[in-house]
Amino acid sequence: MAALILDGTRLAQEIRSEAAAEVKAMAAAGVRPGLAVVLVGHNPASEIYVRGKVKACAEVGIYSEKLTPPDSVTTADLLAVVEELNQREQIDGILVQLPLPRQVDSKKVLLAVDPAKDVDGFHPMNVGFLSTQRPGLVPCTPAGCLEILKRSNIPIAGREAVVVGRSDIVGKPAAMLLLNANATVTVCHSKTQDLAGVCRRADILVAAIGRAGMITRDFIKPGATVIDVGMNTLSDPAEFQLFFAGNASREETFRKKGSTLIGDVHPQVAEVAGAITPVPGGVGPLTIAMLMVNTVKAAKMGRGSGVPEFSKA
Ligand code: NAP
Repeated sequence: MAALILDGTRLAQEIRSEAAAEVKAMAAAGVRPGLAVVLVGHNPASEIYVRGKVKACAEVGIYSEKLTPPDSVTTADLLAVVEELNQREQIDGILVQLPLPRQVDSKKVLLAVDPAKDVDGFHPMNVGFLSTQRPGLVPCTPAGCLEILKRSNIPIAGREAVVVGRSDIVGKPAAMLLLNANATVTVCHSKTQDLAGVCRRADILVAAIGRAGMITRDFIKPGATVIDVGMNTLSDPAEFQLFFAGNASREETFRKKGSTLIGDVHPQVAEVAGAITPVPGGVGPLTIAMLMVNTVKAAKMGRGSGVPEFSKA
């Protein structure tokens, strides 16, 4: 039987509506959450992501501000930008869009963001809060993966979860969230032996690798839930055929745009899995929705205090 498709677009809309309702309630108390997005230079992909984030803020009722330092920006310049935003009362969330130009020390810049305003959840203080199960700000994409599971009533506690990928942005926090939700978690990476065998143990498989269609049907326990975080662009016609031959709607997209998006999971996995997130329309939309949630959360927890309220928990 074909897998249940976990519709990220619908779930993201649900979460955005909930965030909008919270923003409305906060407005009645005279508070409007604010997000500042720092977009350096003219990276086309980053520009698209930032546009999506600013648009979502407007829809939810969050105040947003876009700062656009030039490509030639220095680490010191960016530290000054972040420091100014750290101090400003109407800014609850600060997002520094990655990647930053080569001359900038990205780690230093991210470390300078006030943890109470770190809506990306990348600051080591928030990483520590997550691993010690204290209230804090959780990275948006893995938080979105957990929302998909919870809102789709997929049981997590006691289940075997396998996460492929160990990045600070996705793999590690996804593993920590699953562990906090009482799954038995295995984290795989490029040195893992018998990757397919380990993945076949999974009741819940999270793929965050960055390799088009690498997870094939022989990696999947029949009936497993598969969360595909990967976002890869296919533009080579031969490669496209390998994955999507005979798929009329994909063929049309490919003909029109010259490319199509594919996750880390092979489309045939849908024939074996019990439930699966599509790409596009799966995890992607949740990432922006969770950014809205984090901004509202930051406004509730941190507004007006130099030391984040939640760090005292
Ligand atoms: P990343 O930092 O490049 O990490 C990739 C991870 O995959 C690494 O841990 C790497 O292992 C592992 N890996 C690579 N090749 C492997 C192989 N052959 N076998 C097993 N493991 C392998 O990537 P990321 O930032 O986590 O992103 C992962 C994917 O998610 C990308 O496609 C990205 O575009 C997508 N993404 C999507 C969203 C969204 O909103 N949907 C957000 C963020 C990222 P090592 O550690 O051993 O190198």
